[in-house]
Amino acid sequence: MPQTSEMFSVDSKNRANTSAVEKPYRAPDERIRDFQECFAGFSVAEAQEEASRCIHCPEPTACVMACPLHNDIPTALWHIEQGDFIKAAEIYRLTNPLPEACGRVCPDEASCATSCVLTTRLGPINTQALESFVADYQRVNVGVPLPEKAAATGKRVAVVGAGPAGLTVAEELTVLGHEVVVYDAMPEAGGLLMYGIPNFKLEKDIVSWKTDWLTALGVQFVLNTKIGEDILISELLDEASFDAVFLGTGTLVAAKMGTPGEDLCRVYDALQFLGQSSVGENVLPETDCEYTPIGNRVAVIGGGDSATDCMRTALRLGAEEVVCYYRRTEKEMPGNARERHHAEEEGAHIEYLTAPLAFLDRDNDGAVDAMQMVRMELGAPDSSGRRRPLPIEGSEYIVEVDDVVLAVGFWPDPLLGKTTDGLQTRKWGLIVADETTGATSLPGVYAGGDNVTGPRLVNEALAAGKRAAVAMHSFLSS
Ligand SMILES: Cc1cc2nc3c(=O)[nH]c(=O)nc-3n(C[C@H](O)[C@H](O)[C@H](O)COP(=O)(O)OP(=O)(O)OC[C@H]3O[C@@H](n4cnc5c(N)ncnc54)[C@H](O)[C@@H]3O)c2cc1C
Repeated sequence: MPQTSEMFSVDSKNRANTSAVEKPYRAPDERIRDFQECFAGFSVAEAQEEASRCIHCPEPTACVMACPLHNDIPTALWHIEQGDFIKAAEIYRLTNPLPEACGRVCPDEASCATSCVLTTRLGPINTQALESFVADYQRVNVGVPLPEKAAATGKRVAVVGAGPAGLTVAEELTVLGHEVVVYDAMPEAGGLLMYGIPNFKLEKDIVSWKTDWLTALGVQFVLNTKIGEDILISELLDEASFDAVFLGTGTLVAAKMGTPGEDLCRVYDALQFLGQSSVGENVLPETDCEYTPIGNRVAVIGGGDSATDCMRTALRLGAEEVVCYYRRTEKEMPGNARERHHAEEEGAHIEYLTAPLAFLDRDNDGAVDAMQMVRMELGAPDSSGRRRPLPIEGSEYIVEVDDVVLAVGFWPDPLLGKTTDGLQTRKWGLIVADETTGATSLPGVYAGGDNVTGPRLVNEALAAGKRAAVAMHSFLSS
């Protein structure tokens, strides 16, 4: 919905001098005692006050252009300012199938907020928090109506992977009249929204609500089913007679460090560690070792959002000393700086310029009990453009630990590439797909989200799902 200057005629000068409404968070010592959300949420008055800071820039508006989904943020903010939260939620839902999730997990450093022209003055508009505020308001108070569906086309689509990308394709194509079946290897839909991002950032009932809403819309879910193992893609197309397939399988295989001792018990992969605590089952992943509750000293290896989430999860599970070891400096560290600050507020500590040389089992009981570390310094930039970390000779030291969580990167499961003739993959098993349509090397098979780009963000996976749905509809209609 394009904005019009008449509609939003405002006193820009005055607005540009208004300070941002501070986002209310629960106190650190209170929030680490549970897995409930940390952001306490805006009140109605705070939401209106924050929205009324928007100066309504002339088009093309930077925030709209920067959002991968091109949410019409100024129009939504205008309705929030007027107190019409339902209308604002409707504006977001026109372009975003999951405003509740994006409002909570879109990073401050990315897209809409950093592009806001107020950034350099009194801080950008807190567009993310306002997005989830109105989405929650609508969902809780009046419900989100099911859209009218086009007449049935008789075409059938299999979506593999119930993460943000797959759920978006399922929603869009169901509304367009196609029959959609979503397959997922896990017992619950949602992908990393359910099994990766912790509850204190995104509560799981929001993810379950979306699955129920999609089921009511007519999407069918077949869970606990791994495509490439239980059913092949060729079987979906031939025997199950699907007319098209979408692959939204993400990057769920943990990268290996190649460090001695990384297969010891009590050395966990970040996704197992987070997934099991997120969904409230056993804290520890399946292991050959005897089940042991988390110890007092937890080391997290790596940087980025998953490392931050692991630190904060370990604290909530009762660890007394949580230290993250990162081989570069804070300047090179990927991920959301606000969340990192929250981890430190909660008691986690980050040691920069240090890396493990070996995970040690000094009492030979099969479980890690210490790490041999080395200090690093930064050399010339590597292929990523960041300065390469180099070990400092003679700087080795030992750290005693009870548990280690590895958060050093994720790649797609190579299974689909291996079991699907003609499906082209590239480095690290990423699926080769057209950037604008998601078309893969196999006719009728599309892909999008992390399995094409490598680990990115929820809003980018949603946008990839939207683009693929448009192309798939055109393929199915031709
Ligand atoms: C710990 C962590 C924290 C993060 N925090 C943030 C954040 O704060 N903000 C943000 O924007 N992004 C964050 N991200 C990134 C974000 O979660 C992902 O970019 C996004 O979920 C990718 O969506 P997707 O649909 O491509 O894949 P996924 O969400 O990974 O979903 C893939 C789905 O495919 C299923 N699947 C895989 N293989 C098969 C198969 N063979 N058969 C059947 N099903 C299969 C999986 O079970 C899964 O359900 C985080 C990621 C992690 C790991």
